[in-house]
Order: sequence, then C-alpha cells, then structure tokens
Amino acid sequence: MGGIWLKACSTKPSVARPDINSLLKFRQIANIMRLSPAVQTLKPSATLAAAAKAKALKTQGVNVYDFTLGEPDFNTPEHIQQAAIAAMKAGHTHYTPSGGLPELKKAICKAYVRDYGIEYKPEQVVVSNGAKHAIHNVLTALCGPGDEVIIPSPYWVSYSALVELTGATPVIVPTTEASGFVLQPEQFAAAITPKTRLLMLNNPCNPTGSTYPVEILSAIGQIAIERDILVMSDEIYEKLIYGDAQFRCFATLDPRLVERTIIVSGVSKAYAMTGWRIGWTLAPVALSKAIDNLQSQETSNPCSISQYAAIAGLEGPQEGIETMRLEFAKRREYVLQRLRDLPQVTFAEPGGAFYAFFNVAAYFNRPLPGGKTVKDASEFCTALLEEAHVALVTGDAFEAPGYVRLSFATSMENLKAGFDRIQKFLLG
Ligand code: PMP
Ligand code: GLU
Repeated sequence: MGGIWLKACSTKPSVARPDINSLLKFRQIANIMRLSPAVQTLKPSATLAAAAKAKALKTQGVNVYDFTLGEPDFNTPEHIQQAAIAAMKAGHTHYTPSGGLPELKKAICKAYVRDYGIEYKPEQVVVSNGAKHAIHNVLTALCGPGDEVIIPSPYWVSYSALVELTGATPVIVPTTEASGFVLQPEQFAAAITPKTRLLMLNNPCNPTGSTYPVEILSAIGQIAIERDILVMSDEIYEKLIYGDAQFRCFATLDPRLVERTIIVSGVSKAYAMTGWRIGWTLAPVALSKAIDNLQSQETSNPCSISQYAAIAGLEGPQEGIETMRLEFAKRREYVLQRLRDLPQVTFAEPGGAFYAFFNVAAYFNRPLPGGKTVKDASEFCTALLEEAHVALVTGDAFEAPGYVRLSFATSMENLKAGFDRIQKFLLG
C-alpha cells in the first residue's frame, strides 16, 4: 500500500495525460486514510509547536532566546535520579497496577496531609502519564456530546482541545487583566446551564500566573455546591507562588467540595520532572475507579521507574522546591521590572507559575523600528523570532488576543539578553 501511496503522490498534475489509475488509487487511499472528525479539527499544541520552531532555528546555528516552554530549567534533584537508578537495578522494570503503585498512591496521600491537611485514600488516586494525561482521563470519564465545560480564559492550550475530543462543548468565559485574570464568581454562576458538567480551574494559572484569592475560590466553591457542578482544579503549579499570593488546595475549602472536586497535579513542575511523565488525579472513589478502568485500556501504567522516582520526590527532602522557587522569584522580579520599562506594555503581576503574560497590542498596526508592521500577537511573535531571535508564545494560543507569554523558567543571563532584544525590537 505504501508503494501505491508514494506513486500516487508523485503523480504530477502538469502531466498532459494524467495516469487515471494512479489518480483513482490516490483517491481511494485518501478515503481509506480519512481521519475521524474529532482528530481532523484537532490543532497541535501551540506551546510545543512554538518551542519546536525555536529549536529548529537553533539547529540552524541561530542564537535564539527561547522563552516558549513552561518547564523548570533545573535538573531533577540527585536523590530522585538515584531512586530511579535503584528501581531499575532492583528489577522494577515491569508493569505496575494500571492506576499506579500502591506505594506511590500512599506517598501522594501522605503529601496532601503534610502540605494541606487533607486526607485522601489511596483508592481515590490514579497516577497517570503526566498531568496532561490526567486531565484527558477526567474529561473522557465525565464528558460527552451535549455536555458543557466551563473554561475561564486565558487558559492553557490543551484545555479546550481535550474537551472537544470528548465531543463536549467548551464554554469560554473571558477574564480581564484588570481583575488579575481571575474568574469572578458571578461570571461562573452566569455561565452555568443545565448542560454544564464541569468547571476547569487552573490555580496558579498557565498562561497568566494568576493565583486565586481564597475568598474568590470559596465563592466559586459555594456556587459549585449549590448548583451541583464538578470542579477540576489543576494545581500543577501549586508550589510556585510569589510575593503576597497564597495557594489554597480547592478541595480544602469546604468538606462538601471533596465530593465535587477532582484535583489534578503531578511532579513535573515542583520536582523539575517534566520528562518523567507522572501526574495524578484525586477524586471520589467511583470516578477514580472509572479513570483507572479507562487508563487500563488506553495506556496501562505510567512508567514504573518514574513512579519510583516520584515516590523519592514526594517522600525525600523538600528543600529543592524552595531553592527553585526562590530563583524563579528573583527572575520574576527582574522580568516585571523590564516589562514596566516598556511603554504601553500592560500586564497583571503573576502570583504563581513561571509565566509573564503581557499585552503588546499598542505595537500593532504601526511600523516597528525594524520596518515591519504586525497586526496581531501571532504576527508579533513571528516577527520577534525572525528579527530579534526571541521566542514567545502568542496569546492567540490561549484565547487572549493582543497578549504574549514569556516563560521565565530560564537563566537570568538569557532573560537579560532576551529583554534587551525585545526592547530594541519595540523601541529601536
Ligand atoms: N496543566 C497545566 C496548567 C500545564 O501548564 C501543564 C504543562 N506542563 C500541564 C497541566 C501538564 O503537565 P504535565 O507535563 O505533567 O503533563
Ligand atoms: N505546559 C507547558 C507549557 O505550557 C508545557 C508544554 C505543553 O505541554 O503544552 O509550556
């Protein structure tokens, strides 16, 4: 079949007498290869695509200042690496239970008692291949055609795509820079319809860094209780909090919320373990069982070695988190100062995560010092990459036109040089 496909593809349309048989075969194969409606409309992850574009330029020898990807630039701590090596040597290289090792589930439960004073049972935990997979599991287990899922915008690229994959409809509720990109309780209440299944909250938020004040979280929680709406609280950036901001685990706000909340988190950000692919859900037992069933059919267990490494992360010394957080805090201060120095650039200060999200719309539709005129954030990012070799992610990817996202999970040296270039690109 591959041969016919290649032959058909190489048929040139300009040939005077087209090879009808090849064309027919091409059409036949194209028909066999037709994609499912859900996948046909699926776009690639814009964050990963932006990072790939920057990398491609780097491989051509260009010195690119890459602020695209949201992942710690720190190495996974040594004791976690050693635990993985020990696990391999001990022969833990086989399947584990599909929803994760009992020891890891216990370690996760213990960490929630230690950090937030909330008790979960191991049967409420499912360990997945990263938090992204955990979110996919939640949505697949709960949603289908006819359901609505409320997503405050700006939101992380994969949220709407993962909702759409289930056939459900994302209901986007825009938040504003003036409100710190925090969903207001009345906005949540107004978006609820009889079809609403779930609110997807992200606290602290990617891409805005907004961190929800506890009064607002509580008010959102009360509405969820009164109106019987489930809340998926994605808390992957829970440990990366700055300044006066405070993090509150959503399920701890009211005992009645425990039955209505699905917590999503993982080791990717807190322990600098993005490549190990360990995330989890904490949910009511029946839903956790359904998620485990789903995972047992789709992927089986997440990597056994990574699971042992995650146990070492959760149970070992926690000081590494603070060292990393303090370093991110310094970079955040620097980034905010540089942004304040850029005329007409506006932003809300991020309370958490490692992103600065700022509005550059004042620079659209007028010639930039390099001579180019851009009309939106996507064109802005392309021009910035091509001219100044600085890579950001367009706010269009997060449903926030006019904005761009900069990840400060990179060295101070890179940030300094990158901002010098951004400044020159904007002001000459
Ligand atoms: N949620 C949010 C808000 C994220 O930014 C990310 C990206 N890391 C994830 C989930 C997925 O995390 P993981 O790498 O563990 O899949
Ligand atoms: N969450 C990170 C980001 O937003 C990693 C990339 C991704 O998974 O989308 O950059």
